[in-house]
Amino acid sequence: MSGCVECGLCLLACPNLQLSPARAVEQVRLLRSERYARSPAFQRCNTCNRCELVCPERAAPFERMLDLFADYRRQHGLGFGARLVLPSEAGNLWSCTQFMLPPEERAQVQTWHRRFASGRRMETLLLTDFYTELTPHLASLEVLAPLEPCMAGSPGLWGCGGDSHKLGLRAVTASVARLLEGVFERLGVRRVITFMQAEAAMLETVLPERYGARFSLDSISSLDEWLLDGLRRGEIRPGPPSDGLVTIHDHCMSRYAGGKAQLVIREIVDQLGLRVREMVHSGPDALCCGWADAIPGLFEGGDSPLRSLLGLLRGLDRRLREAEATGAQLLVTSCPACHLFLHLMARLSGRRIRVRHLADLVDREAGSPRADRDERMDARSADILAAAVTTALDWLRAGRKGRFDPRPPPSDRIEPLPHLPADRQQKLARLSARLRPALGQPVAARAVRGAIAAVRLADAARSLSALLPGT
Ligand code: SF4
Ligand code: SF4
Repeated sequence: MSGCVECGLCLLACPNLQLSPARAVEQVRLLRSERYARSPAFQRCNTCNRCELVCPERAAPFERMLDLFADYRRQHGLGFGARLVLPSEAGNLWSCTQFMLPPEERAQVQTWHRRFASGRRMETLLLTDFYTELTPHLASLEVLAPLEPCMAGSPGLWGCGGDSHKLGLRAVTASVARLLEGVFERLGVRRVITFMQAEAAMLETVLPERYGARFSLDSISSLDEWLLDGLRRGEIRPGPPSDGLVTIHDHCMSRYAGGKAQLVIREIVDQLGLRVREMVHSGPDALCCGWADAIPGLFEGGDSPLRSLLGLLRGLDRRLREAEATGAQLLVTSCPACHLFLHLMARLSGRRIRVRHLADLVDREAGSPRADRDERMDARSADILAAAVTTALDWLRAGRKGRFDPRPPPSDRIEPLPHLPADRQQKLARLSARLRPALGQPVAARAVRGAIAAVRLADAARSLSALLPGT
């Protein structure tokens, strides 16, 4: 935070804290001190990066937070639950779920991996990314057929370093930046389109500015921009306007590039003839979908992955409640991660609102007849849930310990995912099959809502005690 004048504006704008101006200044001072771990800002930061963009002095308060994460990790390690999003770790989401994909989706994912391994030149690359590999059916929509020959991806590219950056894993993210430089060079890539807009922001902004990445590319854009282009040119033709009402979830990385991604999604929805009713927090003020609300539990607050899990459920529920309050029938997002986790939570907690990926929405409005997408999303949600429950059980078996410091991936080759033994695969598949019927069941929904109410009560008590003098 060099250049910081301690005005407090960054934390005043933090959607997680709701501080008074005086309290915001006090918290900034605490964050700049050795006692940073006592600050509610450190304890609750879900890496939305809003603070970074409001700082009038360009003193990079979000980068300070990431440095604090790194410092805390060096001293205490990273919480057990982080294994889920780190492809180098046994128990990561991809190793734990890819084998449960239907055969045609598994073949599709293997094709994406093989295209990288073959070394065949690809002037245009549609990077299928991290989270699309959890829901590959979204990449086989009719509307995306022209892009199929240039689709390639691998979890071994670490989602262009998005998650590792947010966890303050500087060495990991730097290694990913070098890896991507080499991959693009080797394949002769000139134009990258990312399925996940957050990865376009990583390639365009974060990796060059923070990790010195140099990509010899003519253009970097997101799938959303490709879709908008198709609609504007008349290459994608939606049916007659249905006048349906939707609300839009803006993911945290959509704030980069002046919020361009937020404008793109709204123009697409407008082109489809749908009406938008905004949530209380939208655009630059949008709240996290909830996925990153698992992050605070990986740092401060003990070893248990349960804290991360409850933070995640509370965050997802908060976003869904805001979405439902708009009266919209659909919650639309273009981020595959937000989409997957919001869908999971909507089904688990019995919410009325449906969650839809932007590409899926465009495909349906363009008249694609495929009808099984919601069922596929339910199946993937159950798989993810099984992986998360298994992680929590592993932590219990490990004697409630297991903080760790992840090693950076090699920067010169894409590392394969850790192999999952057959007996473990069988256990995960059985658990997923048991969990799946719970999605949409009133009993499960009541249990989940009860757990969230308890977490919110605990949060309120914590906030109250933080307001007391001397705390
Ligand atoms: S980081 Fe920027 S906004 Fe925050 S207190 Fe310092 S100068 Fe103000
Ligand atoms: S990154 Fe977001 S949650 Fe974290 S301190 Fe900044 S504004 Fe708050």
